[in-house]
Amino acid sequence: MLRSNAEDLVRKTMARFVDTVLIPKAQEIDQKGEFPREIFMEMAGMGVFGIRYPKNRGGSGGNTTLYCIICEELARGLMSAAASTAMQCLMGTNFLFHFGTEEMHREFFLPAMRGEKIACFCLTEPEAGGDLGSVSTLATRTSDGYVINGLKTWVTDGPVASFYTVLCQTDPAKKLRGLNFFFVPRDTPGVSVSKPFDLLGTRTTPICELSLTDVRIPAHYMLCEEGRGTDSLLGILSEIRTMTAALGIGLVRAALHDCIQYAHERVAFGKPIGSYQLIQAKVAELAVDLEAAKLLTYRATHMIDDKISCLPQASMAKYFATEAACKAGDYATRIFGAYGFSMEYTAQRYYRDNRFLLYGGGTHEVLLPNIARWVGL
Ligand SMILES: Cc1cc2nc3c(=O)[nH]c(=O)nc-3n(C[C@H](O)[C@H](O)[C@H](O)COP(=O)(O)OP(=O)(O)OC[C@H]3O[C@@H](n4cnc5c(N)ncnc54)[C@H](O)[C@@H]3O)c2cc1C
Repeated sequence: MLRSNAEDLVRKTMARFVDTVLIPKAQEIDQKGEFPREIFMEMAGMGVFGIRYPKNRGGSGGNTTLYCIICEELARGLMSAAASTAMQCLMGTNFLFHFGTEEMHREFFLPAMRGEKIACFCLTEPEAGGDLGSVSTLATRTSDGYVINGLKTWVTDGPVASFYTVLCQTDPAKKLRGLNFFFVPRDTPGVSVSKPFDLLGTRTTPICELSLTDVRIPAHYMLCEEGRGTDSLLGILSEIRTMTAALGIGLVRAALHDCIQYAHERVAFGKPIGSYQLIQAKVAELAVDLEAAKLLTYRATHMIDDKISCLPQASMAKYFATEAACKAGDYATRIFGAYGFSMEYTAQRYYRDNRFLLYGGGTHEVLLPNIARWVGL
């Protein structure tokens, strides 16, 4: 799978960080349930947040493959750390980077690259999740800008964020063609966030509602070509799905590693449980899933980097790798026996955190019919 020295270098650097810093603290961070700011700042210091952006504009000059390698390695250590990093690198800053003015670049984008400002992405509403045509947050044109009213929900990192990229409707009659992205700094009058949600998994990545009441922003805070919000979103959809697949690979690797170790150590009926064929079958299944997920995912990242359209390939990778992560969490809690049910061991975290991967970038109930259509049904 190795395509370049850069891929090798990034993987080794991240793996060292994950093995020596993240994994030793992961259980404690997860149980504390607080946003791991220290880890976040370490990511910034390593230049991770700018991995997708060119060096001459404040980025680190990498590409989607390197971005996904980072996501995969971090997810191997702690899904929450990977989730916040993934958001900061892609959805949270992408539209600001491409459509923000020089002043916005200086005031918001560069500080985000340094980890001083946290970025969010707000599509979902209480009545509009997968069905974005139902988005009802309204941005109304005024003489010098827009006034925004509406409620966004499931905002990853919302409670700790400094600014939001918000999908709004400017002309309800136009449905998907009336959708546009807007930049909303947190300190704008009329912006408020709810208390963080009580979550099943990724408990140190806080999520909340974002309420917008008569929020006035200047016209240049529109972060897309007018009427092209849906197209802009489609422009990064393959990357979102591939990144989510990479997160899944990280979780499968972590679970597989811990399962093999446990199966060597745990003795039942006088023998290590790893000597029993049904345990071997579970480990083997995860190993095969892992290899297949890597092939699907890095095929898609290489296509993105080569500027080849690949939404079907990215969707297949997302589906396969995240279902593999769900299976890995399930198998880990079985192989660990009763200790899979204990908060002291890692298996329960893999079992809970894999759910994070199921929703963003399209649920599988929405992806699968598209895949069927792409193959000719
Ligand atoms: C941990 C987490 C983090 C999130 N972070 C963010 C974020 O940062 N920003 C953001 O904007 N959103 C975020 N979301 C929201 C996420 O994007 C939505 O949950 C997702 O789009 C699905 O929307 P929904 O939950 O409203 O489900 P719905 O769209 O209401 O779907 C409910 C069920 O119906 C199924 N369904 C829907 N339509 C169809 C169809 N046409 N055919 C078959 N089945 C269908 C779905 O698959 C699902 O099983 C997050 C969610 C979670 C859980």
